[in-house]
Amino acid sequence: MTSERPLIVARTRDELRVGLDSLAKHGTVALVPTMGALHAGHLSLIERASELCDTVIVSIFVNPLQFGPNEDFRRYPRDLEGDLEHCASYGVRLVFAPDEGVMFPEGPPAIQVDPGALGEGLCGAFRPGHFRGVLTVVATLLGLTRPDWAVFGRKDFQQSVLIGRMVEDLALGVRVDVAPTVREADGLALSSRNAYLSEDERMDALGLWMGLSAAQELYGSGETDASVLIDRVREGVSQHPRLALQYAELVDPETLAPLEKAVPGSVAAMAAFCGETRLIDNVVLGQTSPDPRVRPEPRGGWSS
Ligand code: AMP
Repeated sequence: MTSERPLIVARTRDELRVGLDSLAKHGTVALVPTMGALHAGHLSLIERASELCDTVIVSIFVNPLQFGPNEDFRRYPRDLEGDLEHCASYGVRLVFAPDEGVMFPEGPPAIQVDPGALGEGLCGAFRPGHFRGVLTVVATLLGLTRPDWAVFGRKDFQQSVLIGRMVEDLALGVRVDVAPTVREADGLALSSRNAYLSEDERMDALGLWMGLSAAQELYGSGETDASVLIDRVREGVSQHPRLALQYAELVDPETLAPLEKAVPGSVAAMAAFCGETRLIDNVVLGQTSPDPRVRPEPRGGWSS
């Protein structure tokens, strides 16, 4: 996909204001918030955003508030130049790429968004403060860009639920769309963190998808007992020596409450360490259309 229209790159709040003003005549606006190192998963959100709105804005900000003290904030992959090329070729009109001083001119915000009970389970149980950091920055980005729509990925399932609730509960006046997880040809969910994996780890990382897809299949054949389905996820993981499961749960897609019986739309969600790299994934039971896959691309490019 190419665009004739130039890409505006805003690094400061003033540049963002000027850029947004210049786009004001161009109809509805969709925001795709990211931490950069864009891959085909992010690009699918951009495509979805351009279906929803006339103008697409992408934010690129590696958000320090959402990383714990022993997490990978410093080494998180960054590639602004490559990201801008991808954005330009996908018809994005404006990229907002602030640094920390621009996002938090007074230091970390004194007022932050508390995810409440919805942020306590699943990933929230293992990453204290993570979702508070995510919601605080997403709310700030929404305030700065004032889009009609904001688009997120189901890959970060709990995050997408929390953002949907935040927007409703705080009446933020933006509509939220959640796009399906884009996967490698073999099923591994695309993630910027996959870049950390060694060749051996990359092979074992497939255990997440093997477990989840086996559970999905078992559900398709009539099994609804959550513990049996989750055991299937565990089996998929246990066959891969470099994987260490952090959690696997079957939950309600809105309340995130653990379920004993699966119904259509229940979500099996999991996190596992593959070596030092923490990976997450999930599947929706009874989902009729398969998640999109990236075709293998011998020269290292993408074709989603
Ligand atoms: P990140 O840059 O990892 O913070 O992700 C930015 C957005 O891209 C979030 O809404 C993620 O859920 C979404 N995303 C990340 N990986 C994928 C994927 N494989 N498929 C679809 N969306 C994704």
